[in-house]
Amino acid sequence: MTLFDEPGLDGCECDMLTHDSSMNDSPSACTFRFYEELNDFLSPERCKKPFLHRFSGTPSVKDTIEAIGVPHTEVDLILVDGISVDFSHLLKGDERVSVYPTFERLDITPATRLRPTPLRKPQFVVDVHLGKLARYLRLIGFDTLYRNDYVDEDIVRLSVSERRIVLTRDRGILKRSDVTHGYWLRHTSPREQLKEVVGVFDLWARVQPFCRCIECNGNLRRVDRPSVLERIPLGIARDFQEFSLCDGCERVYWRGSHYERLARLVQELLQAAPSPPSRK
Ligand SMILES: [Zn+2]
Repeated sequence: MTLFDEPGLDGCECDMLTHDSSMNDSPSACTFRFYEELNDFLSPERCKKPFLHRFSGTPSVKDTIEAIGVPHTEVDLILVDGISVDFSHLLKGDERVSVYPTFERLDITPATRLRPTPLRKPQFVVDVHLGKLARYLRLIGFDTLYRNDYVDEDIVRLSVSERRIVLTRDRGILKRSDVTHGYWLRHTSPREQLKEVVGVFDLWARVQPFCRCIECNGNLRRVDRPSVLERIPLGIARDFQEFSLCDGCERVYWRGSHYERLARLVQELLQAAPSPPSRK
């Protein structure tokens, strides 16, 4: 049996793959080609080139893509023999399947995107390992749910019922059929992840620092000093003029040394914005 997708055929960059007669040994096979960041999910020998994937029966294109290792939430367009299809399309064998990512900037207007309506208000639910990212996203104003005791079912439920984008380092959760909007983070450092999320979802113009509680995700509102006097140390009351109160956990915020450090982080982030920043 000739394995076109085995290492050793790396030189094959062309779209034409010769079918060997010994292919008849295998029930069915399609030629797949994944584009741009979808290659992050593939083994090196399958990256950025067509390869053959075998299967039995007539599986849906969604199941087949996930069997290859790519979560369906990352996919925005599938072409089978040049025609755009939805996830339920059944593969018979011998088709050529091209798979494009959600955030691919290619002009694919005439084709059918799988997700014609992006979530208008970007809000997130993050997995249990991303606590620091959750705090950073709240810091710059994005509604982000996180608890360190969430189980996968909680995350899926919140994603579906509140139309939240799942952010995770766990590909498994993105393969759940209920999850329609999700993103697998490439970076491991929270600061890099923050930059990654803002960049991938093009949120630069929506960044609103210091309007949300980093502890509980509540909204902050300006309050006058007398109304918070009883909750803050005397020195703070003396040295600071402006205070904010969280409408969730009633924490009081002021612009102390902690603020300076976070402000630097926000500034650093915004410096990474493409110029000029896109407006939405
Ligand atoms: Zn709070």
